[in-house]
Amino acid sequence: MKTMLRIIPISYRATPWHNILSNLMGIVHGASFAVTVVATKYLFDVIADAAVGNAGFWDCVIPLLVLAGVTFGNQILNGVHNFHGHAQFAIATGRVTTILHRKLSRIDPARFEETDFLDDLNKAREGLFVLPYVSMTLSMLVCFYGTYFTFIGVYLFSLKPILLITLLIAFIPAMCAQIVRVKVFTKLEEQSAPIRRENEYYQRTLCDREYFKETRILGAYNFFHKLFSETLSLLMQKTWRAERKTALLQLTLNITTFIGMAISAYLLFSATMSGEITVGAFAAVFSALGMVFYIMQEIIDMHMSNLNKDLGKLVNFIKMLDLPERTGTEQSPDYTKGISAENISFTYHGREEPAVNNVSLSIANGETIAIVGENGAGKSTLVRLLTGIYRPSSGAVKVGGVDTLETAPASIYNGISGVFQKYQRYKMTLGENVAISDTKAKLSEALVETALSEAGVEREDVEFDTMLSPEFDGIDLSGGQWQRLAIARGLYRINDFIVLDEPTAAIDPIEETRVYTQFQKLAEGKCAVIVTHRLGSAKLAHKIVVMENGEIVDIGTHEQLLSRKGKYADMWNAQSVWYERE
Ligand code: ATP
Repeated sequence: MKTMLRIIPISYRATPWHNILSNLMGIVHGASFAVTVVATKYLFDVIADAAVGNAGFWDCVIPLLVLAGVTFGNQILNGVHNFHGHAQFAIATGRVTTILHRKLSRIDPARFEETDFLDDLNKAREGLFVLPYVSMTLSMLVCFYGTYFTFIGVYLFSLKPILLITLLIAFIPAMCAQIVRVKVFTKLEEQSAPIRRENEYYQRTLCDREYFKETRILGAYNFFHKLFSETLSLLMQKTWRAERKTALLQLTLNITTFIGMAISAYLLFSATMSGEITVGAFAAVFSALGMVFYIMQEIIDMHMSNLNKDLGKLVNFIKMLDLPERTGTEQSPDYTKGISAENISFTYHGREEPAVNNVSLSIANGETIAIVGENGAGKSTLVRLLTGIYRPSSGAVKVGGVDTLETAPASIYNGISGVFQKYQRYKMTLGENVAISDTKAKLSEALVETALSEAGVEREDVEFDTMLSPEFDGIDLSGGQWQRLAIARGLYRINDFIVLDEPTAAIDPIEETRVYTQFQKLAEGKCAVIVTHRLGSAKLAHKIVVMENGEIVDIGTHEQLLSRKGKYADMWNAQSVWYERE
């Protein structure tokens, strides 16, 4: 009930006018069904009178025309109602998806690293697609069936109260079966979400372009196919068990409903025989009973049972909408104050050791720092903390003087640009792939071209409008070209603080140094951070930060660090050996 009450305002927010229209149509449609029953009664009564000579031919024509008119109207309404339902469903699905996307944009990015959160998100997506369906079903139940049953209920009660009571009692057991179904299917959804996420992942490894080459070359197709089949059959098993459990219960309880209908029919027959009700009323109610039985079955077996399954999924959607958002006050960072971190630590969800441990660091305005260290030292995590993407579990990061814990994320990101290890290859044109970093600014082809040349993107036959995706009838770039393009994207965005988190692995060392030298020039007067494994590039920075096991173990210029003969000197010597051998 709580879930149902929650989805109504969401649905109204998504498609307010369609909802109102659909409800009105439901009421008129339900009323027209009820009018059919009354019109049938009058027609049968007048025909019965005509049969014994108490009424003439023309007395029968009017009720006949009324019944024909109502039946015709019913059919028209049915078509319009269905047509509108399909249109409303498509529009509402799109709008509800937007509501979820907006919510996700306000959730702390660190949560996307949590398995539980990703499971919840997967479940919420399932809920998203059923929300319009559930909302429309509820509207139909209340407006269409509700109107019809109210009319019929009043009519039956006025004829013989026991008729109505018997009918109501007959359907109580079937309703109870549905409550059990809600519980079974909510539990099923809880158990299925992680398996479904796994299964979807295996499907991607088998079909997606990015996995395709590797899975074929490694001969891993069969391995992933096996995992895919295993998770799929586990999902099927769980669904099958839940369906079997509830179907048996439902079958038993439906039999009681059928018995109730039979008793109602008997009561009706005996009331007609004793003269309590007219032949017309008997005919109308008898045919209506068939309709009531059919509609009740439809409500319970189809709508309620689907509703129950879907409500389990919707609970997850609502849960996602209720998640706390990352909030903070709107502030304007003053980048002349630089960036500072004071004793910050950060531990990933599910990990015991902190990825960044009690780190303090400052970057003055106009300063470029390089962060170096072995794999897993905590460099990328520190960058995410310095840019405010993650917030420290303890300590404070101040970006342009504002604390990332207290400031609205959009205020922090406003002046920051970054290129990360896992940059995106947008399936869009070359120009769009660059300009996407600053969608608030008007797209400027000249600025895009400047950023592309600063990042050293070799154009060959690639034009500003060339689509960079074979899937959309375009072309693909090489790994190195994509990396330079990602750097161009970072440079295009107007910024006061720019970060390059090792986006250069596919660029050769000499070219990388050229890119970083260029970057240094562009970063003049700004705060800048470079994360790199190639110490030749780190040398260019004003200050080098050496990390190990989440901690800063040394800070200084290249010369200072070499002379200290510590971790940095070891790394430098190790890399020099490789270059000498070459
Ligand atoms: P690399 O040079 O390989 O990119 P790095 O120095 O950038 O490494 P981080 O990516 O910051 O290192 O990782 C620091 C530590 O945090 C590692 O031990 C890593 O296993 C862990 N870690 C990183 N991302 C996650 C995550 N999403 N969930 C749990 N642990 C993580």
